[in-house]
Amino acid sequence: MSTHDHHDHDHGHRHEHDHGEASELSETELRVRALQTILIEKGYTDPAALDAIVETYETRIGPHIGARIVARAWTDPAFREALLADASKAATPFGYHGKVGDHLVAVENTPERHNMVVCTLCSCYPWDVLGLPPVWYKSFAYRSRTVKEPRAVLREFGVTVPEQAEIRVWDSTAEVRYMVLPERPAGTEGWSEEKLAGLVTRDSMIGTGLPRSPAGEGA
Ligand code: FE
Repeated sequence: MSTHDHHDHDHGHRHEHDHGEASELSETELRVRALQTILIEKGYTDPAALDAIVETYETRIGPHIGARIVARAWTDPAFREALLADASKAATPFGYHGKVGDHLVAVENTPERHNMVVCTLCSCYPWDVLGLPPVWYKSFAYRSRTVKEPRAVLREFGVTVPEQAEIRVWDSTAEVRYMVLPERPAGTEGWSEEKLAGLVTRDSMIGTGLPRSPAGEGA
């Protein structure tokens, strides 16, 4: 069950574009460094402020925020409705502070529909509720293949969606970020919100994974 947390199953897939990505990453790093140097030299920003932002996303903001939102939606029908109606608003008490023009939309998995999130253009991602995006999210293979063959991509992540279920792919933009509200696992009746949150994986909120099963908990 815990294989959902790792992407080892995805070896061939990852290996293929790890080459391209290595150079892409280092070029990005160079550009970021150059940009940062100019901003600091011109006095537009100070290094401590940049460090604080990075630190925040590395330690304070992460998928645990999204997991709490999902667990609340699983246990509180009124909150679930509010989340599906206006996720930005519903997520605010959980520490969501989307920027201007950056709306959060929650899409709900059902037995008839599995949702998946991608950004075909670049790497738009709901940072405020999921933290830093995984490297594969930004890969060209994920961005291009998810739209064309979502079922095959899901299989590589170890997720099999029943044939009769529809797969909906949501393309994130700078204006709209999506998070998946996965289905509550069976066998969790009476569980506390906190305990339920422990089942919600980052990938289950991107749609490339499912929540942990209660039987596998702690394994
Ligand atoms: Fe993007």
